[in-house]
Amino acid sequence: MSELSSCLARLKAEVIEAGWCVACGGCLGLCPHLIFYDGRVAAPDPCDLTRGRCYDLCPQVPRPPAEDLRRRLHQDLGNAYQPPLGPVQEAWQARAQDPRVREAAQYGGVVSTLVALALETGLVGEAVLTRRGERGAPEGCRVREPGEVLACAGSLYAAAGTLSWLHQALAQPEENHPLALVGLPCQVTSARLAQDHPDYPQARRLRLVIGLFCTWNLDARGLRALLAHHGVVGPVRKYDIPPPPAEVFLVDHAGGRLEIPLAEVRRHTLAGCSRCPDMTAELADVSVGAVEGRPGWNTLLVRTAAGAELVAQARRQGRLTLEPAEPAALEHLTQAAQAKHQRAAQAGKEG
Ligand SMILES: Cc1cc2nc3c(=O)[nH]c(=O)nc-3n(C[C@H](O)[C@H](O)[C@H](O)COP(=O)(O)OP(=O)(O)OC[C@H]3O[C@@H](n4cnc5c(N)ncnc54)[C@H](O)[C@@H]3O)c2cc1C
Ligand code: SF4
Ligand code: SF4
Repeated sequence: MSELSSCLARLKAEVIEAGWCVACGGCLGLCPHLIFYDGRVAAPDPCDLTRGRCYDLCPQVPRPPAEDLRRRLHQDLGNAYQPPLGPVQEAWQARAQDPRVREAAQYGGVVSTLVALALETGLVGEAVLTRRGERGAPEGCRVREPGEVLACAGSLYAAAGTLSWLHQALAQPEENHPLALVGLPCQVTSARLAQDHPDYPQARRLRLVIGLFCTWNLDARGLRALLAHHGVVGPVRKYDIPPPPAEVFLVDHAGGRLEIPLAEVRRHTLAGCSRCPDMTAELADVSVGAVEGRPGWNTLLVRTAAGAELVAQARRQGRLTLEPAEPAALEHLTQAAQAKHQRAAQAGKEG
């Protein structure tokens, strides 16, 4: 067997060693040959499996024709493929009604509200989220109690390998409760590839996928070096990237607020993000991002029947304030999403 006929060898050659890995975790937790340490993925040992899920679930594998694959995944969800924003049944500006949620959350707390509601109502028995890890780098976590959700609130701008925790949850045969995932667009794509995979029937336990908007992410070690360079040693309370023209990365820490120019921060972005076409998690049940010019609010795109039902329930129970998204804001979002598709297509051509 040639070295490159093994799935792991191909994943290493085409993604990990080529520098395109974004540490989504899609290949992790499935086999003992792949490890995640301090924000990076490594495969120290060889493996001779020719049909392994590690390769099939990686969102960064160059798969021509990628458009056909996305079209098929959308069909599985009952939607037509509609780039650049993906299918949108409803578009809202939204925020949590509970001020404690808004206080802890990144913006309006829509994600934390929906996850807590899904756990409370039994729609899912467990949610896979991302939290601050011990070394400061984010890591995945599994949450069963609604009261635990807020501990994971806020955006952590570094790769966390979160899908590894999803695979661990799916690997427990004694458990059969439905699962929720909150993830970045690359993680949402990998999760949908898992649900679509003929050798992964357990992945159908994933019932709710909440996607986050994402333009780029940082390498966990790069972020740590950046913070150390600016004298931040203690825990960070909150990160934020205010809308243009601010061009800064805000870091609230014990010593106060630090503003780092985005040009400096971008030196630590994951190279693989340049190839990512998806800004709004097009394959999620609902996708959530900021509202430019309206701090404390979220843009909420409802994409599937499952997403619509959960949002309707949140409204009925008075958990979310929902206002129709402004057409101008949606147009602006569509342009940004289109620009990301174009940048990724260009990066793909350049190899
Ligand atoms: C790396 C990154 C890039 C982003 N880029 C954009 C952008 O370009 N434009 C935009 O509008 N919004 C962006 N967001 C999304 C935005 O910051 C908020 O996550 C989103 O608006 C939800 O807000 P909320 O108040 O409902 O979140 P909260 O209720 O505070 O919930 C936040 C959720 O995010 C999850 N999370 C935190 N960090 C990570 C991570 N590293 N990986 C996976 N999940 C994580 C947590 O588990 C939590 O459940 C980005 C988020 C991240 C993590
Ligand atoms: S991008 Fe995700 S699935 Fe692909 S090698 Fe990296 S961690 Fe694994
Ligand atoms: S830009 Fe794409 S690949 Fe990079 S972290 Fe965001 S969703 Fe993942």
